[in-house]
Amino acid sequence: MSKIMENVSLVLERIRRAAERAARDPAGVRLVAVTKTRTVEEIEAVLAAGIRDLGENRVQELRSKAPFLQDRQPTWHLIGTLQTNKVKQALEWAELIHSLDRSALLSELVKQAERRGRPVDALVQVNVSGEASKHGLPPGDLEPFLRQVAQQRWVRVRGLMTMAPLSDNPEDARPHFRRLRQLRDQMQALGIEGVSLEHLSMGMSGDYEVAVEEGATLVRVGTAIFGPRD
Ligand SMILES: *Cc1c(COP(=O)(O)O)cnc(C)c1O
Repeated sequence: MSKIMENVSLVLERIRRAAERAARDPAGVRLVAVTKTRTVEEIEAVLAAGIRDLGENRVQELRSKAPFLQDRQPTWHLIGTLQTNKVKQALEWAELIHSLDRSALLSELVKQAERRGRPVDALVQVNVSGEASKHGLPPGDLEPFLRQVAQQRWVRVRGLMTMAPLSDNPEDARPHFRRLRQLRDQMQALGIEGVSLEHLSMGMSGDYEVAVEEGATLVRVGTAIFGPRD
């Protein structure tokens, strides 16, 4: 397990250096350890290394592990596609939903948040690359969607999320990350009431340093911390 702690400090050090290259405060970047397929024991090692933010992409898996880690009080992030029939369960654990990408999901989040009497924080997932296989709103739909979000108070949009196309070269991701930041700046300039876009969730094991250079505030890293998934 000490390998995991070693990896965490390595990733944090790389985040710090990338932030400095971009003249950013490293404290403005949070490392979300992506724990899908990992055991509770492995997750305990990242918590022992000082990480508080954990990301799962499936609600079922989140529910199966979270109770065992409850006393450590991690912040759970739901980073994968969310089915409307899983929203209720997701909200029992997840504090930030990274994958808000359609009106039907917004409606269900509003309904469940209202039922709980607690607002939900979410990021809007944008399909910047336009790949058919990727989830997320097309960039052109973002403004009307944010205006729709602004009409209610149970779901608070806190930023944007994207996934870059798979590639061995981290530089290939840069234009997509840059585009997300530009979209964020454009949307912020509209001054839509009730919509705050301080977060950019972008960057995974292969490209998180580029993402930090381009303005990421949340990087979602799995294999660089835990090793390859089988
Ligand atoms: C699995 C996953 C990650 C982390 O991927 P790694 O390459 O293991 O760092 C990040 N974001 C999402 C949405 C994921 O599903």
